[in-house]
Amino acid sequence: GAGLTVHDLTVRYGSTTAAANVSLDVAPAETVAVIGPSGCGKSSTLRAVAGLAPVAEGRITLAGRDITALAAARRNIGLVPQNYAVFPHMSVAGNIGYGLRARRTPEPLRRERVRAMLDLTRLEELADRRPDQLSGGQRQRVALARALAIEPDVLLLDEPLAALDPQLRGGLRRELAAMLSATECATLIVTHDQHEALSLGSRIAILRDGHLVQFDTPQVLWNDP
Ligand code: ADP
Ligand code: ADP
Repeated sequence: GAGLTVHDLTVRYGSTTAAANVSLDVAPAETVAVIGPSGCGKSSTLRAVAGLAPVAEGRITLAGRDITALAAARRNIGLVPQNYAVFPHMSVAGNIGYGLRARRTPEPLRRERVRAMLDLTRLEELADRRPDQLSGGQRQRVALARALAIEPDVLLLDEPLAALDPQLRGGLRRELAAMLSATECATLIVTHDQHEALSLGSRIAILRDGHLVQFDTPQVLWNDP
């Protein structure tokens, strides 16, 4: 795995500053949860790391290498965007293999990776289904499997459980925790749910109005009035 650092990141859309001088780091195999109210810049920070939001100032490094100017497709980063981002016209296996196909991974290796991801996310029986034949939780597992299939250095999860009903959310949160503890990825997970942040993040970054106001372990944050 390779660590991620964000130095003094400012993201602007025209005259709107979505993130201002945000600095944080994620170690290999670590999960950092990013929390804060709606509109505080969580998605923009994540999307800037993925190469999908306009970086006005600052620097993003992966394993010490500056990737700020690198095209999104050339960053070894897996992104699970909000709201079940699966391709409706592709099978579960097709969705999971998509990133590998885009990277021209040879078919035997692709098949092996897809199979490993179907196994990891317990979707083996559903490989040939279309997304509209899946439950919300299953679709979300497909999105996660697709992001992990490319063996990314960094995994970015934007509110991965928010669209699920509350009964499903707890179960998938525990599954996600198990999967994250098994990967070497540096993981950033955006959530507005404190419980989710506490159970998934080894450190928590709190954003307000585009500014990072705290970044520490849950123990320190919750003992500090
Ligand atoms: P969060 O994920 O915390 O809800 P966002 O990063 O989505 O926050 O948004 C931060 C700010 O940037 C908000 O004021 C939002 O309206 C603005 N913003 C986000 N995306 C865009 C965009 N594509 N164009 C213009 N403004 C945007
Ligand atoms: P689509 O037609 O939606 O693109 P495919 O069924 O052709 O989906 O599968 C896409 C890729 O997924 C294949 O190239 C193969 O590598 C892999 N794949 C398909 N089915 C399986 C399976 N049951 N187990 C493992 N890998 C599979």
